[in-house]
Amino acid sequence: MWFRRDLRINDHPALCKAAELGEVVPLFILDEKLIKSAGSKRLSYLANSLRALDDSLANKLNVAIGQPDQVLKKYQEHYQADSIHITEEFEPYGAKRDAKIIAAGIKLTKTGTPYAVAPGSVRKPTDGTPYRVYTPFYKGWSTFQIPKPYLKPANLKLAEPIDRNFPDWKAPAGSQVFKAGEIAAHARFEQFSAAALSQYDVARNLAGIDGTSKMSAHLKWGEVHPRTLLLQLNQTKAHEVYRKEIAWREFYADVLFHNPHTDWDYYAGQFSKMKYDEPGEKFKAWCEGKTGFPFVDAAMRQLLIEGWMHNRTRMVVASFLVKDLHIEWQHGAKHFMEHLIDFDMASNSHGWQWTAGCGTDASPYYRVFNPIEQGKKFDENGDYVRKYVPELAHLQGIEIHEPWLVIDGYSNGYPNQIVDHAKERIESLARLEEIKMRKPEMPKK
Ligand SMILES: Cc1cc2nc3c(=O)[nH]c(=O)nc-3n(C[C@H](O)[C@H](O)[C@H](O)COP(=O)(O)OP(=O)(O)OC[C@H]3O[C@@H](n4cnc5c(N)ncnc54)[C@H](O)[C@@H]3O)c2cc1C
Repeated sequence: MWFRRDLRINDHPALCKAAELGEVVPLFILDEKLIKSAGSKRLSYLANSLRALDDSLANKLNVAIGQPDQVLKKYQEHYQADSIHITEEFEPYGAKRDAKIIAAGIKLTKTGTPYAVAPGSVRKPTDGTPYRVYTPFYKGWSTFQIPKPYLKPANLKLAEPIDRNFPDWKAPAGSQVFKAGEIAAHARFEQFSAAALSQYDVARNLAGIDGTSKMSAHLKWGEVHPRTLLLQLNQTKAHEVYRKEIAWREFYADVLFHNPHTDWDYYAGQFSKMKYDEPGEKFKAWCEGKTGFPFVDAAMRQLLIEGWMHNRTRMVVASFLVKDLHIEWQHGAKHFMEHLIDFDMASNSHGWQWTAGCGTDASPYYRVFNPIEQGKKFDENGDYVRKYVPELAHLQGIEIHEPWLVIDGYSNGYPNQIVDHAKERIESLARLEEIKMRKPEMPKK
């Protein structure tokens, strides 16, 4: 059983399939390419997740280093393995890697996917083409029957491991990365269900409270399957909104599956012709959370400390980068790729493109988030900013979002605004006008 983005033992169809056939050799391969693209927070999360998986596999998990095809060949020979089991992968890198392995003559038995409904399955009933807009996708997606969670294999016989190269990646000093692993995922969802799920429809936008599930890293690493979560939801409004958020993850996976070039390229091609600025000092200030806009800075510092950011502020900082600093979305997406513990190619690239106005049913480009008003609305009493921006912690309530209006607003060294939002808004709309006259480009195939 080759584990990849499915680091759990419950509700795991591929593991069940492998266990049905006899003794199982659990294996994780440290793939250099993926490791290079991840920063220390995501790597430390992965290291902890592997330890947690190993605990639930009676310390029989193999952790091997090397090229996946070579490692798999070695394992096939050593264990005389009849079959290699995987959860099917759909993202461009994983799908290509698996196709190459199969082409090299190694048979992979695919059972299950990291999604409730596999990418590529939801199609328009009229002509069988994929959806480009979320709402009709959601309607189609909702008609799929979600099977009951798979029970953990009862008699899981595990072979003695030969490689135990557990990485000891550590998160940087001062960071606070969520607890990894399947047990932590279930504990967090239970806590969220008891405390916040029934108000999720309202609370999910409030950055200063613990109102969202924080399942994203658990879902990214497959420590929990979305099916397990969906089956716990009822028909109330709050639960329905939560179901729709899980479906956004599935929608973006579907869009990326049909448009693999949109991992780093534009979905709406005409936006690649827009005039952008090179990332320089302002980009550095954005990355470090020193733009002088409290809501933006709090979010960027949350990312650096936790490797996670609230959805509302992901949208605000993305809009700020593209429309206030006029920097292409890919630069921001790469910074997120380095720092997020929940980095997911589909949700990240399309979350960025949605905000930048160049994605699927994107927020129109001309709708520019006002970073100050967003802060006042979604962090009304300033708790979020106070938590991550100590230079402003002495300010009370909503005034924290406008330190320039307060006499001692800058007394603790908080930086001045690096741009004038009103001016940059006009500039971004002018740049939009320049490309608007051109004929819209349809997504490349
Ligand atoms: C610029 C930008 C970049 C993003 N990058 C990522 C990323 O790399 N990885 C990632 O998992 N999510 C990403 N998102 C989506 C979203 O911000 C996170 O999934 C969410 O904040 C995770 O917190 P949560 O688990 O508490 O979410 P909850 O609100 O509890 O939602 C439950 C689950 O639904 C899914 N979900 C919620 N909102 C979205 C969304 N807008 N798009 C796709 N799925 C969603 C996630 O799997 C999430 O865990 C990005 C959004 C933006 C705007």
